[in-house]
Amino acid sequence: MESGKKISVIVPCFNEEEGLATFNQTLIQFIPKSYAYEIIYINDGSKDNTFQVILSLAQDNPNIRYISFSRNFGHQNALKAGYDFATGDCAISLDADLQHPPAVIPELIRKWEEGFEIVNTIRNDHQSISYAKKMSSGLFYKLMKSLSDVNIENGMADFRLIDKKVLKQLKLFPENFLFFRGIIPWMGFKQTTVTFVANERFAGTTKYTFRKMLKFASTGLTAFSVKPLRISIYLGSVIAVLSFSYGLYAVYTHLFTDRAVTGWTSMIISVLFIGGINLLMLGIIGEYLGKLFIENKRRPNYLISETNIKV
Ligand code: UDP
Ligand code: MG
Repeated sequence: MESGKKISVIVPCFNEEEGLATFNQTLIQFIPKSYAYEIIYINDGSKDNTFQVILSLAQDNPNIRYISFSRNFGHQNALKAGYDFATGDCAISLDADLQHPPAVIPELIRKWEEGFEIVNTIRNDHQSISYAKKMSSGLFYKLMKSLSDVNIENGMADFRLIDKKVLKQLKLFPENFLFFRGIIPWMGFKQTTVTFVANERFAGTTKYTFRKMLKFASTGLTAFSVKPLRISIYLGSVIAVLSFSYGLYAVYTHLFTDRAVTGWTSMIISVLFIGGINLLMLGIIGEYLGKLFIENKRRPNYLISETNIKV
């Protein structure tokens, strides 16, 4: 039975040639037949044959759309492109490596049919995820929770469903440093959460290198919180008070005792300490300033080199 509604599925792909055809097959199998659908593959500057695989999939299936970037713009920007061009009554985003199991899609859709406008998912950590990844993501979410005012839960994934109402609002977000896991909970609307167990990566290797993860974490923190700046003020004040007291003590020692000659050790320690803290604070300010600088240019989030979507 056709419901007359359409589902958009958004899939960012970066060097996913090995697993993509299988992914596509599995995905289609789990889209309820009562809905029309479109799948938007975003080729995020892959260096392998991912784009050729997408082209051949699109040739066989008129519901497949593609957007190919001029270079690698990163996962979040690829998601943004998907959200920008999605035309469905709701949009579901998921990874191309089958770690976000398409088998969960019917459940997301059921929640949407019940009236939820955003259906988030949380990864239920599993052996398939490396210990290092579990630790680093656990630490990140803890930091994020204590530093920012948005409620981001541990293991929140970029696997979610959003209604077209939310999609319409999301298209209005002009920011360059995107962090959807923060933006989406911040948006409000009727939200709910579904948990899933992540599979092992079906093919290929992780595209989130340590560097990309650090960049992502820094974006998440600085895009959602000015608390690090405030912390530098607090820390700065405490240290200023301590230094001042120590200064008074030094003056006292000099004037009223005869112990004033030594002191090289304490001198060097305090100089190094104050210097270190100073650099740290400057670094925090620099991070925000740098982001402001780039954001201020208003450059597009991505450049498209090829697409079969008519704009
Ligand atoms: N991805 C992307 N651009 C990038 C890095 C990753 O589009 O620069 C895609 C990738 O193809 C996958 C998803 O983002 O569909 C998540 O990446 P991955 O599975 O490598 O990350 P992990 O699951 O290891 O965190
Ligand atoms: Mg993955």
